[in-house]
Amino acid sequence: MLNDKITELINTQINREFYSAYLYLGFSTWFEDTGLTGFANWYNVQVQEERDHAMLFLKYLQNNGGRPSLQTIECPKQNFENPRQLLEATMEHEKYVTRLIHDIYNTAFEEKDFRTMQFLDWFVKEQGEEEKNAEDLIKRWDLFGGDPKSLYMLDNELTSRIYTAPSLVL
Ligand code: MG
Repeated sequence: MLNDKITELINTQINREFYSAYLYLGFSTWFEDTGLTGFANWYNVQVQEERDHAMLFLKYLQNNGGRPSLQTIECPKQNFENPRQLLEATMEHEKYVTRLIHDIYNTAFEEKDFRTMQFLDWFVKEQGEEEKNAEDLIKRWDLFGGDPKSLYMLDNELTSRIYTAPSLVL
């Protein structure tokens, strides 16, 4: 059984992960409108991963005597001037999610909730990958975004990202 503090934090995290999916759905739409369909695809895969994260937290709650309480999902910002702004927003958002995961981890540690700590280990590692991916996109944009031919090739490469189910199974 999870205590009330952990239950509340995980319920909030379900909402934040669905917000992440919604945020990136907006990004995917923005890139689609701009004609950068590879970037749109990349973010569309990200949407599916974020939904998976939300479902993993939900399932973890259910498996441990907790009751999911669904909250309103905030409307994300959808107006941007240029692609780099979305890439920067991705980096900022992932850093924020990392802080959220670390906060839950820290509370689990204080509460001696070792099961939740073990569950969160996967997410701690996952956030490292998310931040790296976001950083790589910014670097590559700065290298190739200014030249139409290079940008075409970069965008084309991003069409190949495919969704794979998370390695964490509950
Ligand atoms: Mg996530």
